[in-house]
Amino acid sequence: MLYLYTVFGCDMETIAKLDILADAAKYDASCASSGAPKRSSIGKAGMGATTGTGICHSYTPDGRCISLLKILLTNFCVYDCQYCVNRRSSNVPRARFSVEEVVRLTTDFYLRNYIDGLFLSSGIIQSPDYTMEQLVAIAQQLREVHQFRGYIHLKTIPDADPRLIELAGRYADRLSVNIELPTAASVERLAPEKKVQTIKLAMASIRRRLDEKAEEPRAPKFAPSGQSTQMIVGADATDDSTILHTAETLYSSYRLKRVYYSAFSPIPQSPKTVPLKPPPMLREHRLYQADFLVRSYGFEAGELLPGSGNLALDIDPKLAWALSHREHFPMDVNRADRSMLARIPGIGLRNAERIVQLRMSRRVRYADLARMRCSMDKLKPFIVTADYRPAHDTISSESLRRQMAEKPAQLDLFPALSGDA
Ligand code: SF4
Repeated sequence: MLYLYTVFGCDMETIAKLDILADAAKYDASCASSGAPKRSSIGKAGMGATTGTGICHSYTPDGRCISLLKILLTNFCVYDCQYCVNRRSSNVPRARFSVEEVVRLTTDFYLRNYIDGLFLSSGIIQSPDYTMEQLVAIAQQLREVHQFRGYIHLKTIPDADPRLIELAGRYADRLSVNIELPTAASVERLAPEKKVQTIKLAMASIRRRLDEKAEEPRAPKFAPSGQSTQMIVGADATDDSTILHTAETLYSSYRLKRVYYSAFSPIPQSPKTVPLKPPPMLREHRLYQADFLVRSYGFEAGELLPGSGNLALDIDPKLAWALSHREHFPMDVNRADRSMLARIPGIGLRNAERIVQLRMSRRVRYADLARMRCSMDKLKPFIVTADYRPAHDTISSESLRRQMAEKPAQLDLFPALSGDA
C-alpha cells in the first residue's frame, strides 16, 4: 500500500478500492497463476515481487509470462448468484471504480513497467448494457486516447447488447463469457438471473466475428487472442465426466481458446444451496490435465471418463487411461505413430516428435528417452525400445497403480494452474 501511495501517487481512497476490487477479482481463474508461490523482493536482494495488489501473472498463447492488473470495475452486483462472493445478498465491503480511475491506474502501472496489460471484469450495476458500456469505455479510452498497446482481456456480460460485445472485441485482445456451471439445470438453480441460452448466444456471436475476421483479414480487428470461458467446479454435484463433456462441446461449438476451471471456494455466510467445503484441491488440477489431453493430444472426453464419475486423484488422467488400456502396451516406440507415442505416460507431445525424428536415422534406445528427459519412472512399464522390454509386462494394472500413485505429500506440487491470458 505504501508503495502505491509513494510511487504511484495513488490516494488512499483509490488504494482502498483497489484492495477490495483486486481481492474480489481473484475468484476469476480465467487469467491466473493461482497457487503460484508468492515472492516478495521486500528486504531481499531480488526483483519481481508477485504480491502487488491486483497483479496476476498469466501466459500468452506463445508462452510468454505477462503481468496483468486484474480487477473488477465494481463488486456491487444486482444479481444473486449463490456461489459468488459479490452476489447482492453478500455482506462484503463494496467499491466501485470510475472509468477514469481504471484508465489512470492501468496507464500508470503500465508506464512504470509494472504490468503488461489489464484483466477487467465487473459485477452488474444498473443493467447489463450499462455495465458493458463502462467496460467498453475503459478499453476504448486506453486504446484511442492513451494509445495503450498492452494486453486487454475483457469479461463480457452475456445479456448485453451484441453491438457492445462487438465493440469490446475491437479494443480487447481477448473476450470471455463465463459459462458459470457445467449444466443448464445448475445455472437455473444457483444463478437464477442467468440463462445458459443467452450465454451461448453471446459465445456464438463472438465466434461469428472471429470467423469473419479469419476469412476476411481486412475486416476490423476483433479479439485477436480469441475467447475463453470459466466453469466453477464443486459448487454443485456435477461430476468430472459431465464437466469434461461440456468443455469438449464448448471447444468445438465456439472455438474457445481455453475453458478455465475454478474450484468453488466457500465464502462466509454462504447460502445453504452451495457446499460448505471446497472440492479436493487436486480436482481442479486433474481437470486441467484432462482438458489439455482433449485440446492437444486428441483424446476424447469419453476416453478419459467413459462413464459417469470423477477423474482419479491419485494418478494423472493419461496414466489412468493407459492402465485401463493395457492392450496397447508395452508399446514399441520404434513402430508406434506420433499420436500413439504421445499417449504413453511420461512422453509428451514434444518428445513424441523427437522420437519420430530420431527414428529416421536409427532405432530408438532406452537411453535416448532418458536423454530427452522423458519421465522414465512413468514410462518404464509401458514401452519397448531397441534394447529394452519391461521385465514384468504382465503385472496387473492395480499393482502398477499402487506403485505409481502420487503420494499425498506431493499434492502441494500441483496447485499452480498453467493459465494463459
Ligand atoms: S453476476 Fe457475476 S458478480 Fe454478479 S453475482 Fe453473478 S457471478 Fe457474481
